[in-house]
Amino acid sequence: MAAKSLHDWTSIAERLQIEGRCFIDGRYQDAAEQCTFDKVSPLDGRKLAAVARCGGADVDLAVAAARKAFEAGHWSRMAPAQRKRVLSRFADLLEANAEELALLETLDMGKPIAHALSTDIPGAANAIRWCAEAIDKVYGEIAATAADQLGLITREAVGVVGVIVPWNFPLLMASWKLGPALACGNSVVLKPSERSPLTAIRVARLASEAGIPDGVFSVLPGFGTEAGSPLSLHMDVDAIAFTGSTNIAKQLMVASGKSNLKRVWTEAGGKSPNIVFADAPDLAAAATSAAAAIAYNQGQVCTAGSRLLVQRSVREAFLDHLRQALGSWSPINALDPSSRYGAMVDAQHLQQVKGYVAAGMEEGARMIVGDKGESLAQGCYLGPVVFEGVRNDMRIAREEIFGAVLAVIDFEDAEEAVAIANDTPYGLAAGLWTSNLSRAHQVARALRAGSVWVNQYSGGDMTAPFGGFKQSGNGRDRSLHAFDKYTELKATWIRL
Ligand code: NAD
Ligand code: MN
Repeated sequence: MAAKSLHDWTSIAERLQIEGRCFIDGRYQDAAEQCTFDKVSPLDGRKLAAVARCGGADVDLAVAAARKAFEAGHWSRMAPAQRKRVLSRFADLLEANAEELALLETLDMGKPIAHALSTDIPGAANAIRWCAEAIDKVYGEIAATAADQLGLITREAVGVVGVIVPWNFPLLMASWKLGPALACGNSVVLKPSERSPLTAIRVARLASEAGIPDGVFSVLPGFGTEAGSPLSLHMDVDAIAFTGSTNIAKQLMVASGKSNLKRVWTEAGGKSPNIVFADAPDLAAAATSAAAAIAYNQGQVCTAGSRLLVQRSVREAFLDHLRQALGSWSPINALDPSSRYGAMVDAQHLQQVKGYVAAGMEEGARMIVGDKGESLAQGCYLGPVVFEGVRNDMRIAREEIFGAVLAVIDFEDAEEAVAIANDTPYGLAAGLWTSNLSRAHQVARALRAGSVWVNQYSGGDMTAPFGGFKQSGNGRDRSLHAFDKYTELKATWIRL
């Protein structure tokens, strides 16, 4: 099959039939109040679909169906080896429909089609398959008891899980939760972001085709306050698994306290430091990576390396490399297969990011790389921006911008670098570049972050946990540790 051109993708997009209804209890249906909202593409403002605007009544329906299915046991008590087969089929169907799903992702939230094809959709399928393959290989424990006792330590599904996800990697973030939640036997009600509901809606049918029983997996598109909030307050939801901003994460914990003390697992924001020491093995390679760390996905990445800490003695040399590396991250129509930098998610977010650019200027930081997005005036395009001379107390260094706006901060020695790196409410990720083995270990230990990358930025896969320290959240996605969030631990004591 020949690779598709911009023209191919554009014409496929024009013919695409896009489902906008919610999926409850095994079928597509309109929202109870029959409300919809128009989902437009950030690429060109075109309306993609009228999407179901779910509210409390839909949440009630989906949760009731989820509970009924859970109690019936067709999924929750299915042999793990059988759940494995069904979920593997689901992963196969994601792969078989990869081009359509990738296109939906690009049209919906603006990311380059090449990245949706190479990363988002294969990553989602891989997350589901990894959890499927694991589920018949995890065992319980037997306690170290006296001879007249048998202590069984088992894990069982929590029940009904509400999954609430953001728009930056719509299907991938959902899959990091669907994989373990479904593998463990739970029922799931997924609330995708109002900014990127289309792949979630589409895969509901694929899950059903794979053999996931009715009610076990529902999808409720809609707004946070209208669909997300009633889910978080529902008395019959046992857990919420969330990825999104720290502000909303806090609201979900309040909602839990106000309702049934449901477990709340949050993967929240970040303001991650990327620390370049003068003895980095290869300054040019570090700069190429630092450019990707802020520009990938138009900077809309929770782990974006948004604070670049550079040792003073190599600052000028490093910034020259960085400017050059960022040259290849100019906005290009996201449907063009050569694009590696697409559109921001929507006009509102674009304005918000531009507001931070203005704030950086006002606070006295120096812009050394400016926006090159003006030429694509039609869509929500904004090229990378770099500020140097940033102090860690400036807004552009403290707040998560969620766009390609990089704050460059100088430091003198490792002690100062670590102090600046940890001086943030967040703790999602951190990178460091050095040839000194001891320094690499010492600094990695001192960094308060859930992921630390040495001589690379970004890395890891389903085999390692992912999540945050401090206000970047709790719990972990990926790896067997993720199963903890979707199971309760039970101790059963048998007198012999
Ligand atoms: P957001 O917090 O605005 O929204 C996330 C989801 O929560 C959406 O589905 C939204 O509709 C829903 N929501 C909003 N208000 C709600 C409410 N009151 N009750 C229930 N649900 C509500 O986040 P966003 O703008 O979609 O995504 C960007 C954020 O996501 C950034 O902060 C980013 O760092 C974070 N993120 C974190 C990770 C991670 O793994 N830690 C990964 C990706 C994105
Ligand atoms: Mn938001």
